[in-house]
Amino acid sequence: MLRIYNTLAREKQDFQPIEPGKVRMYVCGMTTYDYCHIGHARMMMAFDVVQRWLRASGFQVTYVRNITDIEDKIIKRASERGISISALTEEFIDAMHEDTRALGIELPDVEPRATAYVPQMLDLIDKLQAKDLAYQSESGDVNFAVRRYPPYGRLSGKTLDQLRAGERVAVDAMKQDPLDFVLWKHARKDEPADAGFASRWGTGRPGWHIECSAMGEAVLGKTFDIHGGGADLQFPHHENEIAQSEGANGVPLANYWLHNGFLNVNDEKMSKSLGNFLTIREVLKRADAEVIRFFLLRVQYRSPFNYSEQLMEESGVALARLYTALREVAPDEKPIDWDEPYASRFREAMDDDFNTPIAVAILFELATQVHRNKSASDARQLKHLAGVLGLLQRDPVEFAQKLDHSDAIDRVAIDHAVEARAKAKSAKNYAEADRIRASLLDQGIILEDSASGTTWRKQ
Ligand SMILES: [Zn+2]
Repeated sequence: MLRIYNTLAREKQDFQPIEPGKVRMYVCGMTTYDYCHIGHARMMMAFDVVQRWLRASGFQVTYVRNITDIEDKIIKRASERGISISALTEEFIDAMHEDTRALGIELPDVEPRATAYVPQMLDLIDKLQAKDLAYQSESGDVNFAVRRYPPYGRLSGKTLDQLRAGERVAVDAMKQDPLDFVLWKHARKDEPADAGFASRWGTGRPGWHIECSAMGEAVLGKTFDIHGGGADLQFPHHENEIAQSEGANGVPLANYWLHNGFLNVNDEKMSKSLGNFLTIREVLKRADAEVIRFFLLRVQYRSPFNYSEQLMEESGVALARLYTALREVAPDEKPIDWDEPYASRFREAMDDDFNTPIAVAILFELATQVHRNKSASDARQLKHLAGVLGLLQRDPVEFAQKLDHSDAIDRVAIDHAVEARAKAKSAKNYAEADRIRASLLDQGIILEDSASGTTWRKQ
């Protein structure tokens, strides 16, 4: 049984889709005015793994990831460059597709663009106004009235007062409450003509939040199974999506809310001013695309992720070790049997809120087995299970030629194994603890236990 951490419930829950065997999932996608950075890669990778695992588990998945192709930053950038809004967004949509293809991130089933759903956005705003949840201010903007929507703050787990105090919202005299947010933004005088759409509130453009509410409903219906996005979108973006959709429709927007954790670079928040801002294409110049993919999958999607060159290098070493096993022994051709012990533990890990680091640890155990027993059936399991994560599908000889890491060691994998052994010991599972020690010794790693914990050294 798949269990998912639901931000809305603040706990892991059994996953029950609305329609048996089918999953409808919406993930907030890119605002296309610049190249995607490595934080975007993490987000898209997180939900790529979610959709892959759902499909591997037998669900028929409709995966939607939208494209925001009208928004303030887009208008500003297009004006700066003296090009049309669509020329700018087409350029960066193409770039995003190139980047994700390189990283093995599969395309969503539907990729709606906001500019194609403006009528649906206007309908939704109409509904909100009819329910007295929206008002047009003197400035011409149409805003959502948070005070007239009592459940506001449910996703954040906070009251209006707590949100006002905690989130430094800009005070705007035109709003009835500082937390009110814009649904329809009237066109400003200096803006290009292609930024405006006609509406009964005057020419303008949708607010960012209403874009997702309208696209989600248009493609997946009023209630769907999973809504995902980065942790930074939980407030206000997702809170506002809930207020709009549930305020208008009176039914839940999504049953499970998933948020992937932040990404830091060298233990610091990534920012242009700190000089540690990395686009996906810059990272692709420094490392093999599959190594980047593998690196991102070694951390559970909800945990914070730290990017550093050293950790990336170690991931290259680790991935090479998996490929080495497949070079030593060619996999046999049988299909995967999920009752086999490694496959069933892999499934257990993935069913536990997509726990990729544990799933990857099982790949390493299999690699050790292949090395030890030269078993074609273990090699087949290794290749198949890795394939579920989008890994190990290249020719192992070619991979080895590309990345030569013969002397290096993989600290992350060793630390994981040491941790797993400590857990096994505290659970009095001494057979498992001994097995992990023996498997590390096979790799030339010696463990030393002391009162303060376990350390390791190379033989
Ligand atoms: Zn969204």
